Amino acid sequence: MNTGKFTASELMEMENRFGAHNYHPLPVVLEEGKGVFVYDVENKEYYDFLSAYSAVNQGHCHPKIINALVEQAKRLTLTSRAFYNNRLGKYEQFVTQYFGYEKILPMNTGAEAVETAIKLCRKWSYEKKGLAENSAQIVVCEGNFHGRTTTIVSFSIDPSAYDNYGPFTPGFIVIPYNDADALEQVLANNPNVAGFLVEPIQGEAGVFVPDDGYLKKCYEICRRHNVLFIADEVQTGIARTGRLLACDYEDVHPDVLILGKALSGGTYPVSAVLSSAEIMDVIRPGQHGSTFGGNPVAASVGIAALEVIRDENLAENAFLLGKIFREEMEKYCQKSSIASLVRGKGLLNAVVINNSTQEDLAWDVCIRLSENGLLAKPTHNNIIRFAPPLVITEKQLRECIEIIQKTLDSFV
Ligand SMILES: *Cc1c(COP(=O)(O)O)cnc(C)c1O
Repeated sequence: MNTGKFTASELMEMENRFGAHNYHPLPVVLEEGKGVFVYDVENKEYYDFLSAYSAVNQGHCHPKIINALVEQAKRLTLTSRAFYNNRLGKYEQFVTQYFGYEKILPMNTGAEAVETAIKLCRKWSYEKKGLAENSAQIVVCEGNFHGRTTTIVSFSIDPSAYDNYGPFTPGFIVIPYNDADALEQVLANNPNVAGFLVEPIQGEAGVFVPDDGYLKKCYEICRRHNVLFIADEVQTGIARTGRLLACDYEDVHPDVLILGKALSGGTYPVSAVLSSAEIMDVIRPGQHGSTFGGNPVAASVGIAALEVIRDENLAENAFLLGKIFREEMEKYCQKSSIASLVRGKGLLNAVVINNSTQEDLAWDVCIRLSENGLLAKPTHNNIIRFAPPLVITEKQLRECIEIIQKTLDSFV
């Protein structure tokens, strides 16, 4: 019933006509969300298995987070950091204690937090490690995704991320992912390496889980060479993979930790860089900043979002339900001709689609999944990521597994 409302096709047409075409969305137009569900303009209900790329770990419009957002928005939204505000200090104390760090530098988007970590690492290398001016190198991994700024795409190996955006920022060395020996090689032969920037699981690349022990080995190699271990947990962090941080699986405490996405439960852009006082203190007044970073709304929302993770045991839920998802999908893949394999950790999972007979099969699967009431998005052509909000129940998850399997069956 569209009483005076725009239809889905009108709304899509407006985006196509007036918006830049930097995305290729599935043809659904959403207008409401609640918990694990989103609703389109015709009020059709869907399970959300993307969770806004893991920003909505706490579920859509979580009442506690929305309340924090609304209440703070009514009182004070932005002061800039030219002045103190009554929310930021409390947030900074809360977050640093929550993750076990001494200092936080608050930003807004994930890419800004990565940029911050790069600047911090370089500055530390000149002022503490003693590298010569402008000589610092940061080691990154093939298949990385760390955001979209000019510097960050400078070390991407995905042509669609960097093509025609040059000239690029120098100072990065790319090594294979999940290869600790390659890291050892580079650090042993290059005294100018300042940091190693890594995703504990490569999300955008298609949910590539490295071997057990990889992070720990890399961390120890970094330690030995006085190189900062910088973990980008923008997607893997905040309970998504079944622990608070994916690095927790290997008891690795990164020198520099990058967070974003679910730090606000998907309500507001909130990101952060966490580190020790010794490292963080190389940045002094006027040397880095952001008008919106650390604003009172972000601070209030950030505390609420992290409290929800803890109070609702979302890491544990992700751990247990992720196991069920992979067990059930593994059984299914063994007898399926179009689903080849499932991989992931916690509730960050992906199914690889056999697209040997039809190049864009994964896209068609996602279209049919949406018709069957479940939203997921293909990545890299033949991979479908399945990452529901972590508030999903076992009963709901089992219902979703059935939807996914029935949908896949319909293509055989
Ligand atoms: C999404 C993402 C980013 C970038 O975050 P934005 O908020 O989109 O800038 C950085 N790193 C990882 C691992 C991500 O998944």
